[in-house]
Amino acid sequence: MGIAIYPGSFDPVTLGHLNIIKRGAEIFDRLIVCVMVNSEKVGLFTPAERVELLRRVTAELPNVEVDASQGLLADYARKRKAHVLVKGLRAVSDYESEIQMAMINSKLYSRLDTVFLYTSPKYAYLSSTVVKEMARYGADLSDFVPREIIRDVQAKFYEKNREG
Ligand code: ADP
Repeated sequence: MGIAIYPGSFDPVTLGHLNIIKRGAEIFDRLIVCVMVNSEKVGLFTPAERVELLRRVTAELPNVEVDASQGLLADYARKRKAHVLVKGLRAVSDYESEIQMAMINSKLYSRLDTVFLYTSPKYAYLSSTVVKEMARYGADLSDFVPREIIRDVQAKFYEKNREG
């Protein structure tokens, strides 16, 4: 089924993202997970750190590649010869802005289509924002982020608290 791109901020990758990545990798020959760098938004993790965390949690998935891009997603898709974007839908409230983005992307690159995968119900409440909230208060993160990165998320908050 060709090459697909799964774009997002992934600050940091959650179990909800990983669920979409695994399902996307089953459907498409190759799935490129792309950290979209927004110069106006400072994240918790740097783009390079987000890429590293994603690579670690997808290491066992041979047809998954992790990359980052600063430009327009449509240009990136053209460059990578991908014709499909994968997006995860959590709630009806995600739908409106996602449809709008899908239309804009196909306007910018007419061969580009967007495929939506519904969230697995157990992750419907999960976002990177929720993870950051929980980590800030020292909550157990094992239901939220992949095991391999729990310590990195905790360490980031420890570091931040010491700085500030
Ligand atoms: P967030 O900060 O909300 O987690 P991202 O920009 O990192 O957002 O998300 C990237 C993509 O992953 C989006 O298509 C988003 O809808 C999807 N996504 C995020 N969390 C989940 C989840 N828990 N289940 C399914 N899809 C998700």
